[in-house]
Amino acid sequence: MSGSDSRSALEAALASCRSRGLSLTPGRQRILEILAREGRPLGAYDLIEKVAEETGKRPAPISIYRALDFLLENSLVHRLASRNMYLACGHAHEAREPIVFLICEHCGGVVEATSEDFRGSLAGLAAEARFAPRATMMEVSGRCEACAGA
Ligand SMILES: [Zn+2]
Ligand SMILES: [Zn+2]
Repeated sequence: MSGSDSRSALEAALASCRSRGLSLTPGRQRILEILAREGRPLGAYDLIEKVAEETGKRPAPISIYRALDFLLENSLVHRLASRNMYLACGHAHEAREPIVFLICEHCGGVVEATSEDFRGSLAGLAAEARFAPRATMMEVSGRCEACAGA
């Protein structure tokens, strides 16, 4: 992901916090900044390393997990269940919105995608089963355009 993408992901996330009256503590904001800057999923222990590099002080895992919980609850980051990794989200969408993660097995890049058709067919599927979805995340593995071409 390019620098401007990561900057805009962070800016969008911060704007969404402001408009919802959420306050990000410096610790939460640092985690969000690191994930937006990396533009790829990171595990909790990668985050501990990055925070240690930046601050010169090694954070306790619990403080990282608490910050991640807050960011997850507010849809500022997503968790990739299959990899137990976290990814910044600059889309400011609702928590219930269905998301598809397109995960490249080669370079580890992840694209977050959704579409009107996808939302519609999932809503139809849930309605047919009389099921009230709380969160929908789908993970699709494969190769991104750059890696498929290489
Ligand atoms: Zn998102
Ligand atoms: Zn790739």
